Amino acid sequence: MEEIRRSRPLVRPVVVLVAFYNKKALGVRYLETALEGAGYVVHTIFYKDFNSVHPTPTTPAELELLRREVEAARPVLVGLSVMSSMYLDTVYQVMDTLGSLPYPLVCGGAYATMFPQPLLERGARFVLRSDGERTMVRLADALNRGRDWRDIPSLCYLEAGNLRCNPIGDLEADVDQYGLPAVCCRDACFIDRDSLVRGDPQLSTRSYEVIASRGCPFTCSYCCCVNLRRLLPQGVPGVRTRSVDSVISELMEAKKHCKKLVFVHFYDEIFPNLPGWVDDFCLQYRKHIHLPFTIWSHPKMVTPPAVKQAEIGGSYRSDHGHPVRLRAGAPGGVSPL
Ligand code: SF4
Repeated sequence: MEEIRRSRPLVRPVVVLVAFYNKKALGVRYLETALEGAGYVVHTIFYKDFNSVHPTPTTPAELELLRREVEAARPVLVGLSVMSSMYLDTVYQVMDTLGSLPYPLVCGGAYATMFPQPLLERGARFVLRSDGERTMVRLADALNRGRDWRDIPSLCYLEAGNLRCNPIGDLEADVDQYGLPAVCCRDACFIDRDSLVRGDPQLSTRSYEVIASRGCPFTCSYCCCVNLRRLLPQGVPGVRTRSVDSVISELMEAKKHCKKLVFVHFYDEIFPNLPGWVDDFCLQYRKHIHLPFTIWSHPKMVTPPAVKQAEIGGSYRSDHGHPVRLRAGAPGGVSPL
């Protein structure tokens, strides 16, 4: 017993995760669950607020606040969630600022998965493609223990200036295995408008974002989803749907922590319409959650039974850039928007 006590680290290693322009940041919240489960303390920084009309570039004061947070945390690594090219200027300024610190920068997310090289050339030490729940833990373990990381699946890095991309792997076909995203990040802060506020900014939200599935079955030419799907290894379906129990458990957590919650948005590319899944979802949603919700869908997925079931479960709206827009569940029933 004494031997075991001595071998335990006195201080748990820290990982810093940074979400850009998104206080909901589901990807980062899933990573927090994975890293916490593996014994890491996760310090989550929500960097700047979402604003689709007037997004503001970052400022020197915000960059300095971020640099101080990372420096104080002394992390094993800093994970940057790069989902989109919309805010790359800010990502690059953050990378330039943190590049002077001795902590490896690791980029993940949809944009990083599609375009690892520019991020590596700009200063990221690693890029992790596709789902990062398992591979981020493997990388943190390797860096923390001084082990070789070269064979970690999904890892991209530069070697003598050449891009090395390991095959994508270590993904769960059953996404329930990733657990629930952290609804309330334990050690979080929010940096925006030249100030830093401690705590998880999601807790004051009126609307909660959730995904019931990952992936999209369609192949629209203007969308990167098909390319992300083609990267998946054999045995991992292009669309992976959570169990209804898992989704409802997360929403119950959200209701518990987000006291002002009045609305739910399902962020799936295409809301599930598996036989039986929608029936079960409607029953459980009405029983346990019972809040208005919206979904994204596709005209081919919007069948009368699906709309009818969703109407029973709550509100229903389908847009996602496609011509079908419906709303149901309100006193007027199903109607086009
Ligand atoms: S349906 Fe939507 S998410 Fe799917 S490929 Fe088309 S645009 Fe992308």
